[in-house]
Amino acid sequence: MRRVIYHPEYKQYNLGTEHPFSPLRVEMVLDVLKELGHEADFSLPEEVQPKDLQSIHDSDYIEALEAVSAGKTVADIGKYGLGTADNPIVSGMAYGARRIAGGTLLGARMLLDGSAQKVLQLGGGFHHAQRSLAAGFCLYNDLALAIREMTAKGWHVAYFDIDVHHGDGVQKMFYNSENVMTISLHESGEYIFPGGGWLHELGRGMGRSLKLNLPLEPFTEGDSYLEAVEKVAEEALRWFKPDALVVQAGADAHFSDPLADLMLTTQDFERLFQKIFKMSEALCNNRLLITLGGGYSFQATARIWTILYQMFFGLKFPNELPDAWLARWESKLKIKIPSRLHDPNPAFEPIPRKAEIVRTNRDLIQRLMDAVAADWL
Ligand SMILES: [Zn+2]
Repeated sequence: MRRVIYHPEYKQYNLGTEHPFSPLRVEMVLDVLKELGHEADFSLPEEVQPKDLQSIHDSDYIEALEAVSAGKTVADIGKYGLGTADNPIVSGMAYGARRIAGGTLLGARMLLDGSAQKVLQLGGGFHHAQRSLAAGFCLYNDLALAIREMTAKGWHVAYFDIDVHHGDGVQKMFYNSENVMTISLHESGEYIFPGGGWLHELGRGMGRSLKLNLPLEPFTEGDSYLEAVEKVAEEALRWFKPDALVVQAGADAHFSDPLADLMLTTQDFERLFQKIFKMSEALCNNRLLITLGGGYSFQATARIWTILYQMFFGLKFPNELPDAWLARWESKLKIKIPSRLHDPNPAFEPIPRKAEIVRTNRDLIQRLMDAVAADWL
């Protein structure tokens, strides 16, 4: 059974018209689905309740966030990471965050009660939020909330983060946990936010060798990326044998993303999603919860998540995007949108350092697998 979770109130998670984390990205996907004649049947989530939020966030953080979002003044708000350029204070944002977190939590509950095997949550993926800190456009960590819900019932959960930025918030919350494996493939923190996600961050105590990070070279292309998925994520899942797989499917590893430098094409994302579906079926008890995440090129992100949706339901959309949709969004966003769902092939000029990048990534993969080998016996 497959379910899609979405609520129109997700739009309330709006950090301002100039902010990159725009609700319009999902609007574009919903609009193209409608244009393609696909009437989606959504499961509507409730808002997450305070007692659930308290399982992953400190009470003073929740109180401060709710207060500023309601227009109240809170002293020393900077210590919570709020009121920054990345996380500005916008009226109603906490409500939007609660609504979206409720969606990811609903996804976890559907897997737990068996009402779904595959869940696609059309929002969320707030992987940077920490116990008492907003960061990187993220307020409430919906992913950690969902994972906690499952581990509380005794499940082992694997978390796979394909967002181009390190999934630091989720990793941190489960750093000591033997019940949660986190795997993050990201552009090296030497070049982009949040600056961590190094090879040596392997987990602590009982969580040792269960936290895996691959800080990939800038300009890494699809083949090298997919090699890392096979050699690291697939091997890790085969060994860990989780009860469920949670995936943060940010689209910002696309070559056109303005905030990062990896070089995946839509075709690479298709291969990656295929791999994720297969791994969840074969290695993760056939249970999968996928959220969205980053992705700051409107045109690429909308197409990548449309491809994800299509694959999730085994649909076959035409490669030509509907004219009415293109006209509507080009006029609204004042950008040029490619007329096809997939990128042209080739999508960009050859990368001069390609061979060196592939070698460096291979070396990273080897060093990571060597580092965990003794613990994985
Ligand atoms: Zn990101």
